[in-house]
Amino acid sequence: MALLEGKKAAIFGVANERSIAWAIAEAFYAEGAELAFTYAGEVLEKRVRPLAEGVGSKIILPCDVTKDEEVEKVFADLRDAWGGLDIVIHAIAFANKEDLANPYVQTSRAGFHLAMDVSAYSLIALAQRAAPLMAERGGAILTLTYMGSEKVIPNYNVMGVAKAALEASVRYLAHDLGPKGVRVNAISAGPIRTLAAAGISDFKSMLHHVAERAPLKRNIDAEEVGKTALYLCSDLGSAVTGEVLHVDAGYNIMGM
Ligand code: NAD
Repeated sequence: MALLEGKKAAIFGVANERSIAWAIAEAFYAEGAELAFTYAGEVLEKRVRPLAEGVGSKIILPCDVTKDEEVEKVFADLRDAWGGLDIVIHAIAFANKEDLANPYVQTSRAGFHLAMDVSAYSLIALAQRAAPLMAERGGAILTLTYMGSEKVIPNYNVMGVAKAALEASVRYLAHDLGPKGVRVNAISAGPIRTLAAAGISDFKSMLHHVAERAPLKRNIDAEEVGKTALYLCSDLGSAVTGEVLHVDAGYNIMGM
């Protein structure tokens, strides 16, 4: 039997076919999952809808995670359509362009709040609504993070601080939801060329640096994140929760 046969997964964070969330969706689809997608705004709907329809998805909904009413509606619709939910993928982050280029010390209050709200609080907003739909059957919630939460990565700035909050949230959510059989994990992915990555100044040199220094002497691709997501969200990862798993060609272990 396929690893996700009969499972229902809501995917938040597809912007286009390069999105990490899309690679995860493809991996899930190949293993038999039924998928629902959300998109942030009309412009992205044009990109997301054909992709979603291509994998047989019938649930394609708007969701700006800064708007509680949109988040609420997604889960109400999922409850009506599916009666329950097995998996949530949270692959969402945003910070103002200037906060990913100027020195961190110049971060504005508004820029800090925005990055935290979209990139960290949103996981809580999704988890608190997903958990009741998963309660009787167990479930898996997975988010995407980056090692800029652990070490200074020039230009990652406020996003690194938001990712540190996100990773701590993974542990607190895992503690809260574990008794209900809901697992919460994060993948800390190495740099991949995506729309979000294009917002980080000098992203090219991050790719170069990793390929030169990571134990595997290369960068990673989104499909490799998809495979790890499959492990964490299927029965293969049934005893894993509260974990931040690096998928980065080993880069994070290096001291020099
Ligand atoms: P992406 O641009 O394809 O995905 C980012 C998504 O966030 C987009 O779909 C965008 O619509 C969504 N988003 C932004 N603001 C939103 C809002 N207010 N409401 C709802 N959605 C919103 O880029 P990606 O690289 O696939 O990013 C996915 C996740 O992976 C992010 O959390 C990112 O930080 C993380 N990540 C990326 C890399 C990388 O190098 N690309 C590495 C590690 C972690």
